[in-house]
Amino acid sequence: MNNDLRPTRGRFAPSPSGAMHLGNIWTALLAWLDVRQQGGAFVLRIEDLDPDRSRPQWTAQLLDDLRWLGLDWDEGPDIGGPYAPYEQDRRRGRYAEALDRLAAQDLIYACYCTRAEVRAAASAPHGAEQREHCPNSCWLLSTTERQSREAAGRRPCLRVRMPDDIAPIQFADLCRGVISENLAQAAGDFVIRRADGVHAYQLAVVVDDGDMAISQVIRGADLLDSTARQIWLHRVLGYTPPTFGHVPLLIDPEGHRLSKRQASLAVAALRTAGKRPAEIIGRLAFWAGLVPKPEAVLPHDLIGTLDLSRLSREPIVVDPGELG
Ligand code: GLU
Repeated sequence: MNNDLRPTRGRFAPSPSGAMHLGNIWTALLAWLDVRQQGGAFVLRIEDLDPDRSRPQWTAQLLDDLRWLGLDWDEGPDIGGPYAPYEQDRRRGRYAEALDRLAAQDLIYACYCTRAEVRAAASAPHGAEQREHCPNSCWLLSTTERQSREAAGRRPCLRVRMPDDIAPIQFADLCRGVISENLAQAAGDFVIRRADGVHAYQLAVVVDDGDMAISQVIRGADLLDSTARQIWLHRVLGYTPPTFGHVPLLIDPEGHRLSKRQASLAVAALRTAGKRPAEIIGRLAFWAGLVPKPEAVLPHDLIGTLDLSRLSREPIVVDPGELG
């Protein structure tokens, strides 16, 4: 159930950096079902933020794959909607405005440290921790010192200045229950815009979910670690954070996450091999425990069967050979 009092709005936000594979459509199916069960609006957003990794042909392919599988959307890059545009590449102006809002609150600073300096600091014995930080205290630099670095050709990334005394971020995950995270320890001064000027995923996803009035985010458990950062960003940017649900990842018997590397599990490859949408959806529904047997079923037939709180909290081991 969605605890948010706003109209239900969910989304699927794939990155067009390769062919969609079973792991992607697993998340898409569960996010779609959760919204459809509540009569909400389903948004398709293309996360083509990183120009080095995104390709338009993958966007075209993923739209086609989703349609073929019977997963539809109410707003998206092809049909528009009240919160257009639905491609991150066309929303960079919104991210720049959000950075201005963070700068006005003194929550970000330019960091001139090189990657090697940041890595060396993180691997020093006393600094062996996950959180990111700027080893040279760049937040203390004067304007003149910053200018001289820039004149010497150094391009800074922008980091959040995470207050040391920040209260723990608590949230009730729809799949995993209550989670609490100390952001100063877990995330530190994370990067919000890369040195090459590309806005970080953490910023873009929050601005998009906030702007698009997304009330619930159902996505893979690999993004659980990002959630506290995103809730904090929602708050400081003046948005209402959505409710989150992190569904288990699909892994193969060797313990590897199903990924774009396993070409035979790409939706396009399964199509070419003669699989039918109902066969693929039936298998995913079986892995999710929505049906007792892996029988042919279409997404619409599954509406009403999903209870996020009953999904496994552990990764689900699947034999890709069952389909591939
Ligand atoms: N674009 C991300 C991905 O494809 C998903 C981000 C999200 O759902 O928050 O993994």
